[in-house]
Amino acid sequence: MKSGENENHRSDDITDDQLGDLEATGQIIAAGEKMEQSVDRIDEVLQIANMDATAFNDALKAFSGDISLEGDSHAEAIIAQMIQQTQEMQQQNLKLREQLEESSVEVKALRGNLESVRREATTDGLTKIGNRKFFDLKLREAADWANEKGEPVSLLLFDVDHFKFFNDTHGHQTGDQVLRLVARTLTEGVKGRDVVARYGGEEFAVVLLGADLPNAVKVADSIRSTVAQRRIVRKSTGEVIAAITISVGVARYRPGEVLSSLIERSDTALYAAKNGGRNMVHAELVAEQVAAG
Ligand code: GH3
Ligand code: MG
Ligand code: MG
Repeated sequence: MKSGENENHRSDDITDDQLGDLEATGQIIAAGEKMEQSVDRIDEVLQIANMDATAFNDALKAFSGDISLEGDSHAEAIIAQMIQQTQEMQQQNLKLREQLEESSVEVKALRGNLESVRREATTDGLTKIGNRKFFDLKLREAADWANEKGEPVSLLLFDVDHFKFFNDTHGHQTGDQVLRLVARTLTEGVKGRDVVARYGGEEFAVVLLGADLPNAVKVADSIRSTVAQRRIVRKSTGEVIAAITISVGVARYRPGEVLSSLIERSDTALYAAKNGGRNMVHAELVAEQVAAG
């Protein structure tokens, strides 16, 4: 990512465009859930209707068995017709319940399909972590959470150092393995609710919920150090072929700000880390940090 890449448009605007289809999928899934609930409710009503029809039928039978209607062929005919009608009602109820059962299975399958489509649409194929779309969605959610709860949220942007050189030296496929390794290290380096995503190319992003700047820097440095200690080993021979390093830029979300500003500050910090010599973490410059020396 180059500094100022987002200058022409706010990332909030990009996010709205990109997330339209995901939100639509979410709405369809929610509608599917409501349909499932309705199917369950209709089933309950049908069960009650069935029980009522059975009870009515039994009562009619008992009634016709109890009293003698001999000589009153008209009354006999009416009772017989009523018994037949309630039996038909029971049959219809049964059929309806079978149809409902089928619809319910179809709705469940549809919801499952939509959920897997949504998962695929937000997953990076190479590293299997969240992709840029996922990042946009989760960053917005995290910002909303920060605004609502008054809790800190920090953004970490990672960039693999001299990765072009690595690819040129060891081949693109080994480069791909490195990206998988970095993604795994990031995932292992954060807590469950934090967000890990491939931002693009050899760049990654982490959104830390509840972490202020000093805490975010600690997490960033721990991940940086873990990556630096790892060795890329040729599986067939066990030979260590390389080590890799990453640079990290850290910024804290400021309540109410547009997300492009936060991304830009992390990005600026990342470039300071690059300019500072790479394999390091740089935090955005803020007043308290300057005061702390
Ligand atoms: P710097 O330390 O300044 O970040 O240098 P760099 O070489 O890492 O940066 P540069 O932007 O020049 O190169 C990034 C490289 O990342 C170039 C591109 O081919 C590589 N890359 C991007 N996506 C992938 C991928 O999916 N797989 C592999 N193997 N390489 C990738
Ligand atoms: Mg880069
Ligand atoms: Mg790089």
